[in-house]
Amino acid sequence: MLVRLMYASRATESVNQDELMAIVRKSKANNPSIGVTGVLCFSAGIFLQVLEGGRSPVSALYNKIAQDRRHHDVVLLSYEEIGERSFAGWSMGQVNLNRLNPALLLKYSERPELDPYAVSGKVSLALFSELVATASIVGPS
Ligand code: FAD
Repeated sequence: MLVRLMYASRATESVNQDELMAIVRKSKANNPSIGVTGVLCFSAGIFLQVLEGGRSPVSALYNKIAQDRRHHDVVLLSYEEIGERSFAGWSMGQVNLNRLNPALLLKYSERPELDPYAVSGKVSLALFSELVATASIVGPS
């Protein structure tokens, strides 16, 4: 039983590039052993993360992440049972914002900004799928 979960959150002010790297490193260290894959995007103080894997490990990880004091306003955007993973290649990939085409953001939102709070979960998932298709995700698994 595979599920895909996506949430958004707002980073606390303490989150800088080093802190972000620490979160990604920790995710890459922890996620393979529980069979969770996914992608993390961080832009203008907003996290957007997709987690895929078994229902129990994804649920447990989401609950753990939601309690992390490095972010707040954690909002569940999407949760679904899936037949196959879309992000199987990444224990925790990271969106390369340098390669993010503003036109891609404009395709899905009113302004060329990543604001998952302003769009539907469906739209954020569609954006993620395009990021994968356009190879805008960096970092080995
Ligand atoms: P330890 O690393 O030993 O941490 C023990 C405790 O200390 C935990 O409660 C942890 O939250 C807290 N802690 C650790 N470092 C810091 C710090 N610098 N500041 C404040 N508190 C801290 N973890 C994953 O395993 N996989 C993920 O995909 C993942 N995604 C994340 C996405 C976001 C946006 C954030 C903010 C965190 C994410 N984390 C992820 C981290 C997660 O919230 C836990 O911190 C981590 O899983 C704890 O790892 P651990 O069990 O090995 O404990």
